[in-house]
Formats: sequence, structure tokens, C-alpha cells
Amino acid sequence: MAICSKCPRQCDLDKGRFCGADKLKVALITPHYYEEPVISGSNGSGAVFFSGCNLRCCYCQNMPISRGQKGEYYSEDRLIEEILKLQQSGVHNINLVTATHFIVEVAAVLKKLKPLLHIPVVYNSSGYEGDLSVLNGLVDVYLPDFKYMDANIAARYSAAPDYPEVAKRAINQMTEQVGEVVIEDGLIKKGVIIRHLVLPGHRNDSIKIMEYIAEHFPTAYVSVMSQYTPEFNIGPKELGRRVTSFEYNSVVDRAAALGLKGFMQERSSASAIFTPEF
Ligand code: SF4
Repeated sequence: MAICSKCPRQCDLDKGRFCGADKLKVALITPHYYEEPVISGSNGSGAVFFSGCNLRCCYCQNMPISRGQKGEYYSEDRLIEEILKLQQSGVHNINLVTATHFIVEVAAVLKKLKPLLHIPVVYNSSGYEGDLSVLNGLVDVYLPDFKYMDANIAARYSAAPDYPEVAKRAINQMTEQVGEVVIEDGLIKKGVIIRHLVLPGHRNDSIKIMEYIAEHFPTAYVSVMSQYTPEFNIGPKELGRRVTSFEYNSVVDRAAALGLKGFMQERSSASAIFTPEF
């Protein structure tokens, strides 16, 4: 029996891959302007969106990418070439989006690329990660989600009851690797920004996440996101509405009261614009 150990799913490869990803596959490479301001800056973040996903939340906004339908197979050399072109275009960083299921290939690419890059490497993750040692010294900024504190919610929406424990362990490893946030001229150079998308009906779980971050990851920044969009939900009916202002603001207020530093999102903005400061 061949087991994949790239992520906590530990798939038996004779039965298939939960992430749907066999070989390095990329959906899109582009400057991206709608990340947090310290990541997008004025020139954009150099995003590499990988095809497939090992978490596959039922409300994913990127189903064609996360389910792996969209994308092209890339050799490692072609990916290096494209990333160097992105750097040349003037983006502020290289932003690897959902690369967990290609962590081995991405580490090999970064080993060759690192001496050629003069901008930071951002590893943008769902938080559902295995051992990240292979990225030590290759990533400057970690941008993990911390989606759920409650195992039942994680099971219901992402088929991953172990998500809370996995994410805590992964974020701990990330903070150990890159340390405190360093921002120069309004752009992040290193550190961890933890993202949390507030879900309808689950503000208490969100508040527990803020409390956990304040206690265990006080040097990380937090980005509290309001952009949950029910139109994408293919899961339980309770996710069929937007988050209310009361729900969102109660999470942001708790984060601010805990002394967390970070970002909130304009609730009215369909383009997911962030504002600095809680
Ligand atoms: S990376 Fe993909 S195939 Fe490997 S364990 Fe995770 S979900 Fe399964």
C-alpha cells in the first residue's frame, strides 16, 4: 500500500488522492491586487495559484481551481522561469497559493530560485499542513488560514475533524521558522499573518480562534475576513446566508480587545479590499 504523506489526509494512493493532484499543476500566474495591503502594495503580489486542494471546503470560492479542473501541468524548470518573469514585472513578492499537495516539488523549485529572488516568498495556505520542515529557510512570509477551532465544524464543512489540531501545529511551526512580522515601507518582509474567514452562525468559534492566537501566537498579525459568499456553498443549508455586521464586528472587536494587530475587510466591498488596522 502506497501512502502519500504530503498532508494529514495520508491518502492510500491505490484508492485515489483527496486533493486530486498527481503532478505539479498550476491554474494561474498573475499579479494579484486584493491581498492584505502589506502583501499587495501598489504593484501587486505575484500569485501562483496551484490546481487542486487538500482541504476542499464546501463553500470554496475557487471551486474550478480547488477541484483541479483548471490548470496546466508544469515542469519545475517552467515554474522557475514563470516566477522569475513575475519578479521582473515588479510585484512585491512571490505568493504561492495552496501549494500543500505539491510541497515537495515547491521546495525543490524554491531551492533553485531562492538565490535569484530579491523579493520575499509568501506561502499562502489553508492551514491544513503536514510537516513544513522542508520549507525552512525557503519561505519568508507564511499566510495560513485558521478556519475552525471546533472539530465538528471542521468535519462538517471540510471533512477534516483534525483541522484545529493540525492548524495549531502548522502555525506553530511557521512562527518558529520565520519569527516576528517585519514590515518595511508598508510591505511585509517576513513573519506570519493568520487569516480567518468569519462564517455565518459561527462567531463564537471565530472568537475562540482570536483568543487562541492572542495566547499562543502573539507575534503574528491577524486578518479577519468578511467576504464569505453563500452563492458558492454546496454544503449545509446554514451556510446559505452572508455574515451579519454584528457577527463580523463582534469578532473584530474581540481581536482588538485582545491587542492583536492586523487587518479587517470592508464589508461592502465585493472586491475584498482590506483596510489596515482594526
Ligand atoms: S497531498 Fe493529496 S494525495 Fe497527498 S495525502 Fe494530501 S490529499 Fe492525499
